[in-house]
Amino acid sequence: MMTQFWTTIPLEDMTTEQWESLCDGCGKCCLNKIIDDETDELYYTNAACHLLDDSSCGCRRYPERFTYVPECTAITPVNIAELTWLPDSCAYRRVYAGKGLPSWHPLLTGNKDAMHAAGISVQGKTVNETKVKYLEDCIVLWPMLDVE
Ligand code: SF4
Ligand code: SF4
Repeated sequence: MMTQFWTTIPLEDMTTEQWESLCDGCGKCCLNKIIDDETDELYYTNAACHLLDDSSCGCRRYPERFTYVPECTAITPVNIAELTWLPDSCAYRRVYAGKGLPSWHPLLTGNKDAMHAAGISVQGKTVNETKVKYLEDCIVLWPMLDVE
């Protein structure tokens, strides 16, 4: 049986491999967001970073992504508390908040199938940001969905 390391090892003590494996690979953090100037309200859009693969939901250039997208955010144990724009379903946010991982998480199921089936990932739901004229027209609510 797999050791559920995230239940016993604090985020800051995880190995790089453990930390990276916590990511469910949903792709939602790769969607463009809009923050209302007046209300500070956060809105997700379905306009995805041009490097996001809408099928696998992964980054097509993950190891060298900062070369191509300097504004891409590295999520770390140090900044996770500040990254309040991450979706509620994000594994890093969940573990940081003491919620644990949901039953569909790939670390528990062995693959992304249950996550896709639960509607958590971006699979088949995005448009490439390079094709978008007005980001405001792309606002969607589903990225805020967290089941469990
Ligand atoms: S560079 Fe890759 S990881 Fe960063 S936002 Fe784009 S698709 Fe996501
Ligand atoms: S939202 Fe969180 S769990 Fe999902 S891909 Fe981004 S970092 Fe990974």
